[in-house]
Amino acid sequence: MHLEGLTLSFAVCILYQRQELFRTRTHLKSKIITQGRNGTVEPRFASRMGILRASDIREILKVTQNPEIISFAGGLPAPELFPASAIAERAAEVLASQGTVALQYSPTEGFFALRQIIAERMNTIWHTQLMPEEILVTTGSQQGLDLTGKLFLDEGDVVLCESPTYLGAIMAFNVFKPHWVEVATDDEGMEPEALEDALRTHERIKLIYTVPNFQNPTGRTWSDQRRERLVQLAAKYEVPVIEDNPYGEVCFEGTLPRAIQAMDSRGLVICLGTFSKIFCPGLRLGWVAANRRYLDKYVILKQAGDLHTSTVDQMIAASYMKTHDLENDIQHKRDVYRKRRDAMLSALEAEMPRGVSFTRPKGGLFLWVELPTSLDARQLLIRSLEQHVAFVPGEAFFPTSGRKNTLRLNYSNMPEARIIEGVRRLAVAVRKELEVGRPAQAPVSV
Ligand code: PMP
Repeated sequence: MHLEGLTLSFAVCILYQRQELFRTRTHLKSKIITQGRNGTVEPRFASRMGILRASDIREILKVTQNPEIISFAGGLPAPELFPASAIAERAAEVLASQGTVALQYSPTEGFFALRQIIAERMNTIWHTQLMPEEILVTTGSQQGLDLTGKLFLDEGDVVLCESPTYLGAIMAFNVFKPHWVEVATDDEGMEPEALEDALRTHERIKLIYTVPNFQNPTGRTWSDQRRERLVQLAAKYEVPVIEDNPYGEVCFEGTLPRAIQAMDSRGLVICLGTFSKIFCPGLRLGWVAANRRYLDKYVILKQAGDLHTSTVDQMIAASYMKTHDLENDIQHKRDVYRKRRDAMLSALEAEMPRGVSFTRPKGGLFLWVELPTSLDARQLLIRSLEQHVAFVPGEAFFPTSGRKNTLRLNYSNMPEARIIEGVRRLAVAVRKELEVGRPAQAPVSV
């Protein structure tokens, strides 16, 4: 079937229909419309809902549930690396020995033993000097982003970010209607002149948001020099920095990057951490590590939001980390993901036509592709879905000015053979798009 010329959502819907899930969706939709006709009053939502849109990406991810699709779209860790049976044992042990505590409400700040483990790990790995009292356990680091928005952002406040940046942060902060300023970013991080220029010229700057290690979406990592400059500038202009660091430990080459928080003597850097990529995301365990001046406010907001993160999940995680070697698990993940990254890079090198460039991340889960400027990654997605390959068009990762010729590829969730096959098919789609975009040949005069 040719999907050319259709809108992205429509094309995705057609594929969705093939999976027969569409029937359920249509049924639900007609039910809603019928209810409306029966005189149901139109809901009056908050004005912020006017600017919030469901992203195409959710539609893409639904399609990727079809096992025939080779999906480079999500950011899923490899499920075969989850220590499911060891976690089952720990869960049984926690419930048998401390069931009444594990199933009870608990402090908003988090289970103290887990806060201790987090502070110790951060101090050992990232050379910070955190006390357990400076850690707030959150329901994933995504909640850390939501709380950050609530804590700092009024409508029109300015957030400085890398260009491109993490889509989940754009979505979390957009609820508060900020004004985004994308700072020019290269392979070493934000360009210092551009950052200082932004800090000097914009009023109401509330946050500098960064994913400095193996960034989502580009896989890029900040150099030490840029980190130091960022800390100096944040201190000079007294702007807090959000160091969002889910991927730092998923490092394949060389030494671990340096933590921005460890370079900061002013307590201006707030670090968001998570067990999602180094342990398992389904437990939804993350943390905010910050000076008490900030942390105490985060605690108040979290209390208002969900009282606390699941007690039993925190206790299971703490028990696992006391009885098992998490560092060993992480090393295994690094080895597996390194091979998958290598497979993707060699396939891209072998298959992609000239004019296509891509990043070479030294860790993390993603790499970033730039197509020739004549191509639109959303059109390419429609074509590549015909080949049963999915990815995320890059436009969504720019909060102000999407670059249409970019896309994000994930390599953590699939064995090497499928990665290689997926890249081969993607390259076929790119070549076809280039053919379509090429101006018609002038007729040869005879
Ligand atoms: N920050 C970044 C940069 C991410 O890529 C993600 C997950 N994809 C998160 C935060 C949220 O992760 P979690 O809530 O699972 O900790």
